[in-house]
Amino acid sequence: MENQKTKRTVIVGGGIIGLSLAYELAKRKYDVVLLEQEGFGEKASWAGAGILPPTCRTTAIHPMEVLEAISSELHEIWADELQHLTGIDNGFRKCGGLYIARSAGEVAALMGMQFEWESRDIPFQELNAEDAKQRLAFLNSDGNGINDGIVSVPSKALWVPGESQFSNPTHIAALVSACQSLGVTLHEHAGQCQVQVCDESVAGISVGKEKIVGDQYFFTAGPWTEQLIKPLGVVLPMQPVRGQIALYKIDELSSGIGAPVINDGTRYLVPRTDGHVLAGATIEEVGFDCSTTASEVEELRGWAESLGANLNDATFVRSWAGLRPATYDGFPYLGELGHSGNAFVATGHFKGGLHLSTGTAVVLADLADGKELPVDLRPFSPARVTCHQASEIK
Ligand SMILES: Cc1cc2nc3c(=O)[nH]c(=O)nc-3n(C[C@H](O)[C@H](O)[C@H](O)COP(=O)(O)OP(=O)(O)OC[C@H]3O[C@@H](n4cnc5c(N)ncnc54)[C@H](O)[C@@H]3O)c2cc1C
Repeated sequence: MENQKTKRTVIVGGGIIGLSLAYELAKRKYDVVLLEQEGFGEKASWAGAGILPPTCRTTAIHPMEVLEAISSELHEIWADELQHLTGIDNGFRKCGGLYIARSAGEVAALMGMQFEWESRDIPFQELNAEDAKQRLAFLNSDGNGINDGIVSVPSKALWVPGESQFSNPTHIAALVSACQSLGVTLHEHAGQCQVQVCDESVAGISVGKEKIVGDQYFFTAGPWTEQLIKPLGVVLPMQPVRGQIALYKIDELSSGIGAPVINDGTRYLVPRTDGHVLAGATIEEVGFDCSTTASEVEELRGWAESLGANLNDATFVRSWAGLRPATYDGFPYLGELGHSGNAFVATGHFKGGLHLSTGTAVVLADLADGKELPVDLRPFSPARVTCHQASEIK
């Protein structure tokens, strides 16, 4: 029947992965409850930069490449869909990406990326130093990029037109609003959820004095998932990896619409259309400590401000940090948990969770529907970590 709500589905963890899954399942008429201990999307999903790297569906071979390519296609569709449903523009735009390298090591690393793009038919273009400076011109009122004398001009620069971005905080707001209008039961600030188990299956989720029961359960709690699912007897090793970001606001950035993402090794600048520019990000293994540190922020700022005079003390706004959910082998955990029959996991997307959120939601909803999957989930199976491996990893 068209409007009949089916299968009560409880999702624990309201970051971008949980929200995307709730949205996709609600579109498919599932009766969805989404539980979040704090505010929706307030953790890594808010803290991230919103870069959507280039992909190519036709040449994608490895399931990770397929998931990436499906996710990219869906971002374009979801941006329109969400705007239509909620009136919120999530800032999705194909802004392109400039990749620069200066030292010999950086050049070698960039050549590695170039070979990968070549083999995957991902369009790119080699730029000379002058053209590269022009792409950075939005960072200088005099129309020039790279603060002369502060930093050397790139030895190698590549232009990648397929790189995109979206404003993840706005996207999260759109997902929350869309879930509301599709009838998802949303509980934020619910407190810490705990899994109740009976005969290897999930019997319910306890939140304070309440017990929430469903036909099936999805765990999307980012780096906290390892702890959350322990009562099921399943070990999924996870590592929170902190990333810090510095935020600038350039009033003169009149045409943020045309400004590209700038990639320089592991660092990047992401110019938003409203004149904000994000400079990120650190990669630190410091446990669940989500604070910013003066030294790392100073270093990020030193780098960002070397790229153009428009980024300076006066335009610096603030900094923040988030915890990326990393797994032991770099692949996310997607699929059924143990022999539960009613529990699934979707987490561990590390540096790519904003990008992979759309594809993850659709693939897991297909799994719930019992449909043929567009991605081979075997490399992502939580079962790849046996208890034996897990004890070696820990
Ligand atoms: C600095 C930085 C930059 C990044 N840049 C990008 C980028 O440009 N592109 C990209 O694709 N990715 C990027 N990422 C990665 C991306 O942000 C993450 O992979 C993604 O947000 C993970 O989403 P998530 O929903 O799995 O986790 P989270 O956002 O951490 O959400 C998990 C949620 O579960 C909740 N939770 C935990 N335990 C419980 C419990 N017991 N009960 C109830 N709720 C619980 C938490 O409160 C949290 O809200 C970046 C990350 C960082 C930190």
